[in-house]
Amino acid sequence: MAEQAATRRDFLRAGGALAAGVLLAPGVFLLGPAAARPAGEPASSRQRWGLLVDTRRCADGCDACVSACREENGWGGRGRPETDPQWIRKVRVRDPRSGRSFSLPVMCQHCAHPPCVDVCPTGASMRRADGIVLVDRHRCIGCRYCMMACPYKARSLEHEAVEDPRPWAPRGKGTVESCTLCVHRVDAGREPACVEACRRTGNAALVFGDLADPASEIARSVRELGGEALRADLGLDPGVRYLGLNV
Ligand code: SF4
Ligand code: SF4
Repeated sequence: MAEQAATRRDFLRAGGALAAGVLLAPGVFLLGPAAARPAGEPASSRQRWGLLVDTRRCADGCDACVSACREENGWGGRGRPETDPQWIRKVRVRDPRSGRSFSLPVMCQHCAHPPCVDVCPTGASMRRADGIVLVDRHRCIGCRYCMMACPYKARSLEHEAVEDPRPWAPRGKGTVESCTLCVHRVDAGREPACVEACRRTGNAALVFGDLADPASEIARSVRELGGEALRADLGLDPGVRYLGLNV
C-alpha cells in the first residue's frame, strides 16, 4: 500500500527535474535548462510540453516509437488487438488533393481544452499546469466517458489484469489509459521514449520540448516551419503538432 501510494505520488509529482543539457547515454538526453525544476515544485504553466511530428521524416513500416512506448510503459503485447490497450499507433492517411499517402504516429494530443477532462465524473482525467493530460488510476471508475469524448481515439480501457506494471506507469484492469508523454521521464528532465527511439532509427521525426519557451527547438520549428494540429477545427489546441500534413 505504501509502495502504491509512493508510486502514485511519483506519477503525479511535478518536480524532480535534473540538471540540464547532459547526454546520459547514446540517444538519451536530458532536456534543456527550461526543464530544470527544484524537486517537489509543482508543474508550472510556464511550460507547455509538446511534441512535433515531421510526417516527411516518419518512415513507412517503422514502428520504433510504438515499440518503445510499449516497452517503456508496459502496455499491449497480448496479441488481442481488439482489446489490447494502445497508447500510440501508426495511422496511414491519404491526402485526396495530392494523392499522397503517408503514415504518422497518433497518440494523446495533450489538448489545452481536453474534452476527456470535461466529461470525467471523478476528476481522474486531468490536465497538469504544464499541459500533460493524465488519468489517475486510483480515481478512475472505468466509465469510459473520456474514451467517447476524445476525438482522437487516444484512450484505451485495460480489460485484463495487469501482471507486471512498470513502477513508474501504474496500470490496472478496468481503468482507462493513454499516452502520458512519459511524464516520469519529463519530470526527471528526460525526453519521452518514443522520441529517443525515433532518433535512434536515424529518422528523427519527433521533437519534444517546451512550446512556451521561444528559444526551444520545438517552439522555433513551429514558428519557422509551421506545425499543424490534427482536426484544428475542433479548437482543442493540442500540444502535439504535425509538419508536412498537406504537402
Ligand atoms: S487527445 Fe483525447 S485523451 Fe488526449 S487530451 Fe485530447 S481529448 Fe483528452
Ligand atoms: S473512465 Fe476514468 S478517467 Fe475516463 S471519464 Fe470515467 S472515471 Fe474519468
